[in-house]
Amino acid sequence: MRIDLTELLQKVGNETDIEQSEKVSFPEDGLTLTKPVIVNAHLANIGPSVLLLGRAETEAELECSRCLKKFKYPIAIELEEEFSKEPLIPKKSKEIELRNEDFVLPIEEDNTIDLTELIRQDLSLEQPIKTLCSPDCKGIKGDK
Ligand SMILES: [Zn+2]
Repeated sequence: MRIDLTELLQKVGNETDIEQSEKVSFPEDGLTLTKPVIVNAHLANIGPSVLLLGRAETEAELECSRCLKKFKYPIAIELEEEFSKEPLIPKKSKEIELRNEDFVLPIEEDNTIDLTELIRQDLSLEQPIKTLCSPDCKGIKGDK
């Protein structure tokens, strides 16, 4: 999912809201999505970087680990990311707070950002470890 930041990048202080949906699938993660991913986000150009705050929603099809029935599982993930065209190199003259945990993602040459990989990572983290179609699933019928 690509988002064009050309207008946003024209001026520091520019802000915009986006709503974008795209059908994606991540078979390599065993993740079958039954609905497109819908992203609602607010973007702000803060000068050295662009901040993105928002959420992504979709629905996955999972297999119950007890009865093997397939069921739908709505997933929503929070997005809080920072993007930059230049690698953010600390300036020597300034006191820099250490920001090891912050991970700044690149803005491509053509002023776009790609959210697909980000969403893929977040979605695979959101998958329940134990997948049950319902909390009181009785398992496969006849199984004792
Ligand atoms: Zn079940």
